[in-house]
Amino acid sequence: MPASSMEELVSLCKRRGFIFQSSDIYGGLQGLYDYGPLGVELKNNLKAAWWRAMVYERDDVEGLDAAILTNPLTLKYSGHEETFTDPLVDCRSCKARHRADHLDEQKCPACGSTDLTEPRPFNLMFKTAMGPVDDGSSFAYLRPETAQAIFTNFKHVLDSTSRRLPFGIAQVGKAFRNEITPRNFIFRVREFEQMELEFFVQPGSDEAWHEQWVENRLQWWDAQGVNRNRIELYRVPADELAHYSKATVDLMYHFPHGVEELEGIANRTDFDLGSHTKAQGDYEISARVTPNKDSNAKLAVQDPDGGGWVVPYVIEPSAGVDRGFLAVLNEAYRVETLDNGSERTVLGFRPHLAPIKVAVVPLKRNHEGIVDKAKGIKQHLQALGLGRILYENTGNIGKAYRRHDEIGTPLCVTVDFQTIEEDDSVTVRDRDTMTQERIAVAALADYVQGYFR
Ligand code: ATP
Repeated sequence: MPASSMEELVSLCKRRGFIFQSSDIYGGLQGLYDYGPLGVELKNNLKAAWWRAMVYERDDVEGLDAAILTNPLTLKYSGHEETFTDPLVDCRSCKARHRADHLDEQKCPACGSTDLTEPRPFNLMFKTAMGPVDDGSSFAYLRPETAQAIFTNFKHVLDSTSRRLPFGIAQVGKAFRNEITPRNFIFRVREFEQMELEFFVQPGSDEAWHEQWVENRLQWWDAQGVNRNRIELYRVPADELAHYSKATVDLMYHFPHGVEELEGIANRTDFDLGSHTKAQGDYEISARVTPNKDSNAKLAVQDPDGGGWVVPYVIEPSAGVDRGFLAVLNEAYRVETLDNGSERTVLGFRPHLAPIKVAVVPLKRNHEGIVDKAKGIKQHLQALGLGRILYENTGNIGKAYRRHDEIGTPLCVTVDFQTIEEDDSVTVRDRDTMTQERIAVAALADYVQGYFR
């Protein structure tokens, strides 16, 4: 069973160095978190798993890493300036601000007053001044989604790779939203990361591709240890759809605080490419787009069957890294009662996600022969390229095992007197079964590689 409460996860994250409150020594900054020594490893592993599945294991997707600061025209024509809003209410009594659609009753959660203003749209985009003159005339937005730069680079990627439909462009990176009420730990924050794929298809084939991507994403989450039985599909009703979407399926995960969106998979039609395309053209755009007077681009492809120009439709699986991190952590968390009645906390991560792959522990912290041998083994295993291998010289094996169970290290390798005096073998201890096996040092690399294959 996963964690029973968010508090358990928050406390483990702080204690063991996964996640800290940002600017903590100055009282924090609301809706911002920093990833610590183990958090950065888990997060990188999750992003790398996504990139492998999206880019390396397919032959129809290219990668991109675009700027965060975004030209206001991009977000004007994308519709974000006008419609990227949440409904805001003010409490007239205590001046607190709340998101209207998150209130259970028409009552201020801060002071209980029912004297609230009517909801009004609040734009979620962060703005910042560009250049040395701060007179408001020159500004940029911090991107609220990574997607837009994929659309504005569409032609460059197409021309430099000679792609044909269907093909995709993948990007992982930061996005910023001035959330009215950030809450639930890293679930709703103001600075977060997204893993987004924009998959361009021939109009007419979009609905079939949409279904295919929903299935593909469920399988991927399952491979990260987020069981598909714990994800519900929410087919977003027409009146809740984002301005660009014809159909959206949200993957709703059982987070400790409730069932909420982990990833959204949207059929964005030709809305975005159409919106960024120059107004007059020899092609049709079905979307409800504002005629574009500023773009000089034709974000279209030539129909290979000679039917002229086509503005592709796009299917977008858009996942949050931070929400994914929380889901993976929650699924991995378990507290077991051992035969002797004691308890152990385990993070049973899938091996490829574990922040530390192997801990190499000398049995005696001050014994030169054992210490040197352990350091050598660490270097040797590190060179396999599996991820972080930790040399840990605490001198207390029992404590080391408990700690590595709690941070999800799949294997601990212990170097002892038998290693250096008798047979050059080590003890390999398995996180999940707690079994200990004696392995020859000469066979260790193969053993470890086999485990992580
Ligand atoms: P919500 O309805 O929960 O605010 P959304 O529908 O606005 O989310 P999308 O615009 O579809 O979210 O963004 C795609 C993904 O980015 C989400 O599925 C989520 O994983 C992530 N995401 C969006 N907003 C946040 C946030 N404030 N904090 C953390 N992750 C976020």
